[in-house]
Formats: sequence, structure tokens, C-alpha cells
Amino acid sequence: MKLVFATNNLNKLKEVQDMLPNSIELLSLKDINCFDEIDETETTLEGNAKLKADYITNKFGYNCFADDTGLEVDCLDGKPGVYSARFAGEPSNSENNMHKLLVNLEHKENRKAQFRTAVSLNINDKKFLFEGICKGEILRKKQGEKGFGYDPVFKPNGFHQSFAEMSSEEKNAISHRGIAIQKLVAFLKDYKS
Ligand code: IMP
Repeated sequence: MKLVFATNNLNKLKEVQDMLPNSIELLSLKDINCFDEIDETETTLEGNAKLKADYITNKFGYNCFADDTGLEVDCLDGKPGVYSARFAGEPSNSENNMHKLLVNLEHKENRKAQFRTAVSLNINDKKFLFEGICKGEILRKKQGEKGFGYDPVFKPNGFHQSFAEMSSEEKNAISHRGIAIQKLVAFLKDYKS
């Protein structure tokens, strides 16, 4: 079965393909000649993931899944959430986003936060949602050079390092996206059309 992952991030694509049985051939947006800018106009992670998956299924006819992730900070009432990529304005800039977050939390004792990923799957005219959560806290300053986005300021519970100090294997094993994708993969392995 061909299945589109609505992304152009080849690292994400390979990571998921490696977890899937050979009977499922994962395609990127480029593979199906989709070069459209799909605007994330919804106000929830689930909404945006569904919007992207539906766009591809409706326009190109493929079974498809899409993901959307946000950082939800307790003392900011769950912000930046769905607006994580553009927290400090557009164009998206991770350094500015982290700076704004650290300034917002400067005098806060409660630094609890979670990354949350929603994955929306369209398969044979049915729709399914998967969620992955990684709980942790926002550090007082950046630590580490690896990863992307808010990784240097996020420390997952039970670890001493930030995400930016972990290898991608270590991070994927416990991360929001890793957990959501593991749920998707388990579902697809069992799926009978
Ligand atoms: P996306 O939905 O995967 O594009 O994620 C939206 C935004 O959330 C990104 O632009 C990053 O700022 C942030 N983000 C998502 N996943 C991670 C992660 O694993 N580590 C750090 N930041 C992330």
C-alpha cells in the first residue's frame, strides 16, 4: 500500500519508513508532485494535522497522514501551543522563539511544560487520530546544540539533559512525535482494509 506522509522533511520520512513493514510504501509530498503551500489555519494541533491530511487525500486521492506539534507551557495557559513555530512572529525563528519563552518565564517558579503531537490519518475513507505527549520543564537557559526548535530549553522528566543534548535515537524513543508515530505504526501493522 502507498501512504503519503504530508511532509517534505526527509529525516522524518525515513524515520517512519524504517519503522513500517515493507508492505507500506511511504511517499513524501515531493514524491506525489505536491508543491502546494498548505496553510495551517486551524486553532488546534488536531485541526491542522487533519487539514493537511485532508488536503492531500481530497486533491490527490492518496491515503495520507500528517502531524502537527506544539509546546504547551503550564503557566502560559498552554501557549505557545499550536502557534509554537511563530511564537515570536513570522518568519519562524527558533532563537527568537526561545528568547521570548525565557523572558516570559523569567520570574516563574512553575516551569512545567509538555510537547504534544497530533497525527491525523486518512485510510480507505476512514479517519483516525493519534496523540503523543512528552512532559518536562523549561530550563532557565539554553543547554545543548543538537535538535531543533525549542530543544535547548526543554528537559524531559526523568532526564538530566535537555532534548538538545540527546542523540536523535535517545530523543525519538521518548519524544511526543516518537510516541505518536509509534501508535500510528502499531495501528498500521495491524490494519486490515
Ligand atoms: P511541527 O508541527 O513539527 O512543524 O512543529 C511546530 C513547531 O513546534 C516547530 O517549528 C518547533 O518550533 C516546535 N517543535 C516541534 N517539535 C519539536 C521538537 O521535537 N523539539 C523542539 N521544538 C519542536
